[in-house]
Amino acid sequence: MQVPPFSLTEQLDALGEQLDAAVLQVLRSGQYIGGGVIAAFEQAFAKAVGTPHAVGCNSGTDALILALRGLGIGPGDEVITCSFSFFATAEAISAVGATPVFVDVEESSYLINLEQLEAAITPATKVLLPVHLFGRPVDMEQVCAIAERHRLKVVEDCAQASGASWAGRPVGSWGDVGCFSFFPTKNLGGAGDGGAVTCRDDALAQRMRELAVHGMPRRYLHTELGYNSRLDAIQAAVLNVKLPHLERWIELRRSIAARYRSQLDTANTIHLPEAGPDGHSWNQFVVRVPACSPAPACNQSCTPSSDSASFGLPEACCRDWLKQQLQEAGVTTIIYYPIPIHRQPAYAHLGYAPGSLPVTERLCAEVLSLPIFPELSSVQQQQVIEVLQNLCGAAASRATAAVAA
Ligand SMILES: *Cc1c(COP(=O)(O)O)cnc(C)c1O
Repeated sequence: MQVPPFSLTEQLDALGEQLDAAVLQVLRSGQYIGGGVIAAFEQAFAKAVGTPHAVGCNSGTDALILALRGLGIGPGDEVITCSFSFFATAEAISAVGATPVFVDVEESSYLINLEQLEAAITPATKVLLPVHLFGRPVDMEQVCAIAERHRLKVVEDCAQASGASWAGRPVGSWGDVGCFSFFPTKNLGGAGDGGAVTCRDDALAQRMRELAVHGMPRRYLHTELGYNSRLDAIQAAVLNVKLPHLERWIELRRSIAARYRSQLDTANTIHLPEAGPDGHSWNQFVVRVPACSPAPACNQSCTPSSDSASFGLPEACCRDWLKQQLQEAGVTTIIYYPIPIHRQPAYAHLGYAPGSLPVTERLCAEVLSLPIFPELSSVQQQQVIEVLQNLCGAAASRATAAVAA
């Protein structure tokens, strides 16, 4: 049996009729831009996040750009974030003319290292931009305390964390702005691109709303240069159908993660992710496969990867070998992310040398995301567990034999 890393088929089977009706209603209404369907989604999403405002936009990337522009961030300003994230986190900072400043992450949580975050603050720093990576919430009490001490703004990258919460309070409600993506593989996905910003401040919400429509407070009056970044009515219609199911879907993700954690016995050849806080929304289940020592998962039969050499990264041979073996057994996995942002060619001008963010660089060589989505069946998951366990067990006993010999 094939086990995909992600699938929308089951969701479509369950909600297909409702989705058909919602989309057809938009098509028949003739109102494809703006209108009540979008307002209804914005209200429902704001309620779910627990902020007075949610403003729909074109994508998670645009949500980050609107947040930074809304806060008046531009050339000469520094925004501190992590390099272990999707490229868009940094790209948005650069898009507004500001400079991304990267700090390392913690190996245990994969999340931004808050000591290094505070240590990186300079007089040019304006914004702290934590990423709730893989759906695991950053400690927002600490981030907000640091921001308060240094009078900085906080923008949360919640793209992978719709429905996640820290200390019982949803992500996106802690910082000055929360930035969400409705890309199809996120916890709450539309039928294409989409995003939203959430915030408490009335004026900031209004400014971001205007920026998303050409800096236009009223028709054909343009008070600043903005963007064309609206949430489509069809996307809002799809999201209106899906939002009421988000909590249940996250519960399903949590039980899948718990099952992986309790049933996978990999003889320590790979490391499982921590359980994390209660509010973890498990957008991804990411294991680490260290390269050939101490227990050689691949029995040293693997070949060095080209990314390691090209981007000055640690050796990823065992991870890449395991990914290949899983694929041959029908289990498709994904690497989020093979090359850290600070080592991307597009950021060569920032001058981060190999080894400058050692934990991030090692994680990029070790991480592997196992299949996880709400409808992943127990039969499918059992297959992943058995295949992985056999590979790890075989590798471990070969390693023991090698040591004994
Ligand atoms: C997906 C993602 C984004 C960008 O969202 P899009 O909707 O694809 O533009 C930003 N940051 C992170 C961490 C993401 O995973």
